[in-house]
Amino acid sequence: MPEGDTVLLTARRLDAALSGRPLVRSELRWPRVPVDELTGLVVVETVAYGKHLLTRLDDGWTLHTHLRMDGSWRVARTGAPDASARGAFVRAVLANETWTCVGHRLGMLDLVRTRDEHQLVGHLGPDILADDFTDRLDLLAPGGTVAGPLGACTVGDLLLDQTFVAGIGTLFACEGLFRLKMWPWSRARDVDVVTLLLTIRRHMLRGVAVPVDGREVKVHARAGRPCARCGDRVVRGVVGSAPTERPMFYCPTCQVPRPGQTDEGPGVTS
Ligand SMILES: [Zn+2]
Repeated sequence: MPEGDTVLLTARRLDAALSGRPLVRSELRWPRVPVDELTGLVVVETVAYGKHLLTRLDDGWTLHTHLRMDGSWRVARTGAPDASARGAFVRAVLANETWTCVGHRLGMLDLVRTRDEHQLVGHLGPDILADDFTDRLDLLAPGGTVAGPLGACTVGDLLLDQTFVAGIGTLFACEGLFRLKMWPWSRARDVDVVTLLLTIRRHMLRGVAVPVDGREVKVHARAGRPCARCGDRVVRGVVGSAPTERPMFYCPTCQVPRPGQTDEGPGVTS
């Protein structure tokens, strides 16, 4: 699933290609959404919020898209073969005279009034890649810790809870916990969540600055391969519970529960 860094890079590409220019072509291949509603409108901007993309138009409406599992937006020069946007998996086409943006396999698509965007993203926590994210840490973790019901969650679950913080997926959750040698099933109240979030944010920002290589993956999707730190084999566990359980890759030697930490264990491992 695309993570916040990919979504932010996608937003920047769409913004650079479309903003400030009128759309000469728009196709929204989605149930109950008008097919050609946007032609003639000027795109104001495209921004990311967590894993959501918001393309704002000058008539006060916003096209909301989400990449979900394997969606993508590709940009091609208008008139080029890639801009033809043929294929069963094309869900959206937005084009001006220079650039054509084609949304493939999108997981969500809605048109909402810009003033109503909160109906789509208002339930989410602060965006970990937002410029003002660090100002929100006091609210997320007063005194540096997460209390109440969230504090009782495992830290692996908490990181993936988009209503707590938006934009982190399994890759950056696994990598952040590995970097800080944290046991993913520790109770959130028992770990330094502020340091963890700042570590993940720095890592994600490197992924934005240097796409792909900036991610420096150490454990994610590396089950059975040697840990870069100790040489033990990386293991795949599970966080969350059905139907929303997610894989959690970790090193069983580097990431162990500290004395006194409660844990519920890694679930099924392989
Ligand atoms: Zn290790």
